[in-house]
Amino acid sequence: MSKPQKSYRKREIAGHTLSPESLVMGFGYDPFMSEGSIKPPIFMTSTFAFKSAREGEALFRRLAGRMEVGDPEDADLIYTRFNNPNMEVLEDRLTLYDDGEAALAFSSGMSAITTALFACAEPGTGILHSSPLYGASEVFIRSFMPDWGVRSAEFDAWSTEDQILKAARDAVARFGPISVIFTESPANPTNALVDIAACARVASILEQETGRRPILMCDNTMMGPVGHKPLKHGADLALYSLTKYVGGHSDLIAGGIVGNDEILTKVRRMRNYLGTMLDAHSCWLLTRSLETVQLRMERAFSNARICANYLKDHPKVARVMYPEFLAAGDPQRKVFEEQCDAAGATFSFDVTGGKEAAFRMLDKLQLIKLAVSLGGTESLMCHPGSTTHSAVPADVRARIGFTDGLIRFSVGIEAPDDLVVDLKQALEHV
Ligand SMILES: *Cc1c(COP(=O)(O)O)cnc(C)c1O
Repeated sequence: MSKPQKSYRKREIAGHTLSPESLVMGFGYDPFMSEGSIKPPIFMTSTFAFKSAREGEALFRRLAGRMEVGDPEDADLIYTRFNNPNMEVLEDRLTLYDDGEAALAFSSGMSAITTALFACAEPGTGILHSSPLYGASEVFIRSFMPDWGVRSAEFDAWSTEDQILKAARDAVARFGPISVIFTESPANPTNALVDIAACARVASILEQETGRRPILMCDNTMMGPVGHKPLKHGADLALYSLTKYVGGHSDLIAGGIVGNDEILTKVRRMRNYLGTMLDAHSCWLLTRSLETVQLRMERAFSNARICANYLKDHPKVARVMYPEFLAAGDPQRKVFEEQCDAAGATFSFDVTGGKEAAFRMLDKLQLIKLAVSLGGTESLMCHPGSTTHSAVPADVRARIGFTDGLIRFSVGIEAPDDLVVDLKQALEHV
């Protein structure tokens, strides 16, 4: 970095590196540019004044990547589809937990995913993805991308490096170079983990064999930036539905991507045309949310551990898919230990008696609410088989270990005793 460190971008004090938890309160925002206001005001404006016609010309040259000597180094503000002060502050802060070079904010998790795929996978290339994926991501890759000349192949989330490499080589033989390896870990609803480091090694092998290194993306929505850091294990981009843990209050829809600056420059350019950026007000809400993401997630993680242990010993619960319960010899256990900093706060469990028994339990909940989505302060449960995953065919369900009695539980930050009491009384009806 050749730019002088501005005080609001300082990352250390007297040689001590500050942690994201401390930086996230002030990083990227100078109060003295806004009347000393400690918190960033919300910039509800569509456009920004130029100081002169020449400056406007230079800013547009910079935007198009045609900079000339003497043009401004920093991206200055032009128009809110390109940038806005609230989006800048949010993007700077999104880099912190993942230690990424850059970040981008989007209008939803899906607009982050689709904009990244449009930017990185061009016609004549293929996408290799782990399976299962979030339903909308899977449908977009399988049903929409082929119309733009991008085909896809998949591998099971729990595959070993050899299996991923074999799937990749088969895909190259079928439709040419792989532009993107798209993963989601842990995968919904069974919490299967994708070995990100193994995917990164496969990307390097493909580079040697085909001359092209696929961009490795990881949808990190399920464990959030606190529980899992895909960039550290070799992913180029970590993608988020910020709607979930980062937003954390079930009151907004947003997406984000953190990672490699060069790749994100391409994605940013695509976002400028698609207009999939995030509005100033939601950016502001997210900077507020980010200040407590660590506290909220730690509390949710510890509540989830208490609930998972309660369910594990319950006679009406057949199985709890919580990573800490992986057997010592299970290859997934090794991935969990090497890759995850937490066990997460969203997991599924199976009640005995199938769908009817699951519905009886769900209908008796009094504190835990019945809704899709996850990662909010309140605990939610849903029955994926009849809702979020109703389109998943029976053979795929069998392969991924997804039964009729499966209930997904997003554990919130309530008092843990209250959650256990609600589980206990609702399970009496199974
Ligand atoms: C919710 C979710 C998405 C989509 O995010 P939106 O903000 O709803 O567009 C993508 N991936 C995963 C894993 C999700 O849980």
